[in-house]
Amino acid sequence: MTHQPRASFKSPRFAQPATFMRLPHVDDPHGLDVAIIGVPFDGGTSYRPGSRYGPREIRNQSSLIRSYSYFQRVAPFERLNVADAGDIDAPPVSIEKCYAVVEERIGATVEAGARPIVIGGDHSISLPVLRALARRHGPLGLVQFDAHIDTWDEYFGGKYFHGTPFRRAIEEGLVDGRRFIQVGIRGPMYGEDDFDFHREHGITVIDIDQLKDRGVAWAIAEIRRVVTGPAYMTYDIDSVDPAFAPGTGTPEIGGLTSHDAQRLVRGLAGLTLLGGDIVEVAPVYDGPGQITSVLAANLMFEFLCALAQGAEVKHETITINRE
Ligand code: MN
Ligand code: MN
Repeated sequence: MTHQPRASFKSPRFAQPATFMRLPHVDDPHGLDVAIIGVPFDGGTSYRPGSRYGPREIRNQSSLIRSYSYFQRVAPFERLNVADAGDIDAPPVSIEKCYAVVEERIGATVEAGARPIVIGGDHSISLPVLRALARRHGPLGLVQFDAHIDTWDEYFGGKYFHGTPFRRAIEEGLVDGRRFIQVGIRGPMYGEDDFDFHREHGITVIDIDQLKDRGVAWAIAEIRRVVTGPAYMTYDIDSVDPAFAPGTGTPEIGGLTSHDAQRLVRGLAGLTLLGGDIVEVAPVYDGPGQITSVLAANLMFEFLCALAQGAEVKHETITINRE
């Protein structure tokens, strides 16, 4: 038996404490294929804070998502045992202490054989997740959806904030630069030398103009060409245009549509993905209807379906779960 979302014929979608897609809350990762884990930490934010409230609101807005993907032709909960593992109690006052707690908890999840899907929090929290995964699996490939490169060196003398996690990940040997691609990059930069680090380490960039000119299918082919071997996905919600995703701390105009984002994540199916995260959702800046959290929850569903693509059916679900 695999865990299933609460049946919507028996329990209304707006009832009960919110878990991701109304899955059971399970603390012990043993026996899970995928663990949904929140990291409500925004102490690495440089501009508007508030992504510490992301995990709660994304869970809340995930209640409507039905359990079969028509576009990916997969019912993920028939193939993967998935549960909501709750939040990591990340200390809000110290980024180093937060990193230690996140690395330990994700490490335990990985050791138990479950793949983590992490809900941020700001983008700084990807680094301890990568530390835990690379400790087990070695250097990883990485696909990063983001408006920003997040490979800057430091901020106010600090090495850790949401603009530096992927420089640290390369320096620490957690990510292989030649298997690392960034998608959706745009906005004003500090200077052309912002990309020196990319040239030095062989990091591939698809900026927003390239993506819009050449199309989503081309971008997916590029991602699949670059990201070989065991890999991780990190999804910064600010890759999406603030017209679709205003609830974020560092908005950049001229981004992906919601539909571009869905198709890009679907395009990851078949890659060797060890886990992923979705970060930078800050509900306090969101528009009516919590549209940014709705989007984030649905992108997590697409990612889950992409993970399920290669897996065997182990539990046929009764189709009573229909809306
Ligand atoms: Mn980012
Ligand atoms: Mn960003």
